[in-house]
Amino acid sequence: MSKEIPYKIYLEEHEIPKQWYNLRADMKNKPAPLIHPGTREPLTAEQMEPIFCKELVRQELDETTPMIDIPQPIQDFYKMYRPAPLIHATFLEKALDTPAKIYYKFEGNNTSGSHKLNSAIAQAYYAKAQGLKGVTTETGAGQWGTALSMACAFFDLDCLVYMVKVSYEQKPFRREVMRTYGANVTPSPSMDTEVGRKINAEHPGTTGSLGCAISEAVEAATGKEGYRYVLGSVLNQVLLHQSIIGLETHTACKKYDIRPDIIVGCAGGGSNLGGLIAPFMGEKLRGEADVRFIAVEPASCPSFTRGRYVYDFADTGQVCPMAKMYTLGHDFIPSPNHAGGLRYHGMSPVLSQLYADGLLEAKSYEQSAVFEAATLFARTEGTLPAPESSHAIKGAIDEALKCKETGEEKTIVFGLTGTGYFDMVAYQKYNDGAMTDYVPTDEDLAKGFASIPQ
Ligand SMILES: *Cc1c(COP(=O)(O)O)cnc(C)c1O
Repeated sequence: MSKEIPYKIYLEEHEIPKQWYNLRADMKNKPAPLIHPGTREPLTAEQMEPIFCKELVRQELDETTPMIDIPQPIQDFYKMYRPAPLIHATFLEKALDTPAKIYYKFEGNNTSGSHKLNSAIAQAYYAKAQGLKGVTTETGAGQWGTALSMACAFFDLDCLVYMVKVSYEQKPFRREVMRTYGANVTPSPSMDTEVGRKINAEHPGTTGSLGCAISEAVEAATGKEGYRYVLGSVLNQVLLHQSIIGLETHTACKKYDIRPDIIVGCAGGGSNLGGLIAPFMGEKLRGEADVRFIAVEPASCPSFTRGRYVYDFADTGQVCPMAKMYTLGHDFIPSPNHAGGLRYHGMSPVLSQLYADGLLEAKSYEQSAVFEAATLFARTEGTLPAPESSHAIKGAIDEALKCKETGEEKTIVFGLTGTGYFDMVAYQKYNDGAMTDYVPTDEDLAKGFASIPQ
């Protein structure tokens, strides 16, 4: 007999994970290594250490250790907002009139409003443990910058954030949250860095991109004594930290005998999805269970569904190492009407390998369909979702509606990565009927592909 499943499942203290899970240890085909753009040889730890913290470099390169201890100070910080609940979306099920069972893991229950804090606190901890003065980073929509600001405040580290200019202007409140936690926020491209000045000269009036802000943050870190660069997604280490999402979900499912048939997540750089699916994908790789995994991305930034699986630069300014990933080209910038987040040109090498191996599916949606799903979710389940998260909502709703047609009682789990309180300009567009969809043409994509090195 299985226990009655509560509406919200919170793990008990003793059930909270004390280790992260490194999915790479169970992957037969390992993700391709980061390579040096000059030599095209895999990067060594010594080459990475001027950019990233030592311990994080070790995690980045470790593809054999399955379980990695979470240091006690990180566990202590996690207690402020974890465990995150796994919620049975009974109200949404009713509204959809579906026989499917829908659950979502809610990661928005902290001031940064997203899952990004799970990795921010880890990265800040290792920087502090190494005796560094501070860290630099980029932020797009602002969640990562906010999360990192909170983490740096906790460990008393200096935090320099390059914020994509369009977000800096459209999201002044995000900026102020970061400053309240003590971060220094600069709109990107700025005139403070060589790469920023170059991008400004080549593209006057540009509203910036994540790839460009990354270049600036890396330059700022490598040019300053006692600073390192930290990144909120894409990297192996970030997926490792985010495995806390999947481990908690896995424990909750085991406890109540919930067996997911389908797990859905939104994919920007791939960190929440990689974290959510990790233990379940591990079971699939070891032949212990079978689950369908679906990545959902915006049709205006379709890295998986229309991108190429090749080595490309992680950033516009080409100061970063190259990663083999599904990419639209490091010069790709989504059309200016795109308000839904998830605007990075590439994708996590771990998820890219899984997708190439047919272990992960991908889908894309236009943003007005995503906001329609967001609105339905807000009105039924109560939580105002982040536009990014709403891609996963849309993906889960579509699977639930398929179940309605076939009468199948599938179990669908999706990641609700965050809340949308700072995204009201986008919601306003949607509510005013002024939101437009733009799907890049093959010619548009060809321009981005042309920037991929041969
Ligand atoms: C950053 C972010 C994402 C996308 O990033 P991933 O690395 O793909 O997880 C999704 N949702 C929210 C709320 C975010 O802040």
